[in-house]
Amino acid sequence: MTKLSIVIHTEEEFDWDGGFYRKNNQVTHGKELTEFCEELISVGAKIVFAMDYAFVTSEQGQEVIRHFQTHHSDSVEFATHLHPWVNPPFQDEEPVPEKYSYPGNLPYELEYAKLKVLTEKIEEIVGYRPTTYLAGRYGVGDNSYKILNELGYKVDVSISPFADFRHQHGPDFSGYTNEIVNQQSIQRIPHSCGYISRFRPLSLRLNRSTELMNTLNSNILGKIILKIFGVKRVRLSAEGYSLKENMELLKVLKLEPVEHLIFSFHSPSSKPGSTPYVMNNRSWNSFNSTTVKILEACSSSGIDIRLISNKQS
Ligand SMILES: [Zn+2]
Repeated sequence: MTKLSIVIHTEEEFDWDGGFYRKNNQVTHGKELTEFCEELISVGAKIVFAMDYAFVTSEQGQEVIRHFQTHHSDSVEFATHLHPWVNPPFQDEEPVPEKYSYPGNLPYELEYAKLKVLTEKIEEIVGYRPTTYLAGRYGVGDNSYKILNELGYKVDVSISPFADFRHQHGPDFSGYTNEIVNQQSIQRIPHSCGYISRFRPLSLRLNRSTELMNTLNSNILGKIILKIFGVKRVRLSAEGYSLKENMELLKVLKLEPVEHLIFSFHSPSSKPGSTPYVMNNRSWNSFNSTTVKILEACSSSGIDIRLISNKQS
């Protein structure tokens, strides 16, 4: 049975193009996030809150944590999301250069120190040690898996299949599909992302191995084929993707078959005006209803919506 986990990048509201400053740590969407997650739980969702330092130390963030621990402790898991620029110890210059907004690019000692502080803060607030990790900006690096082991993590959800962020100093996932990978005892479950097109057999081929896309992309004829068949890369998320695109991606990934899907969004998207995906009430209504419809479709098609940590599910 295909499994699906909902991972919320649970973090401060910040201007995504405005630079990486430690003062950008406001969390004012607690009420909206609580209401939205209540709605998702009412349609059968279980939710993994991957929380960063700004969220977990904020008043509203702690209210959200208390609320779900009190009312839905079996339906939620608290996990870790490292935004290095708002997470002590602060040894970085300000603004933090884009390269170091990816935790995996930090020197070993600093990546370790930041993740240790965050892990212990989450443990202090929620009462257990998180075992699921999501790097800020999907930024895992060469030292990340050793550090995750040392801090007791079991699962990492930072792979963003087929994506190459090297042009902005980020990681290169162009060799990864949606398959689970084990690395240094850490189970790496990718954030679901894949190709859809007008011709499903082509979508399936493109999602099964990364080679075909690399070949097609390297010559004019290949690029024409991609265009003719309307090939598009889609993340399993209502942030920037339509219901139709999500439903087609779900069909294709289920056929692969992908063992464990990750549906994701950013917590500030629950409050209109806080992310580029949800700028006003109209886009909020569409984001909300698309998310609910995707999850309802998952439930009714027999997908097992579950938490990630074994202890919690
Ligand atoms: Zn984030």
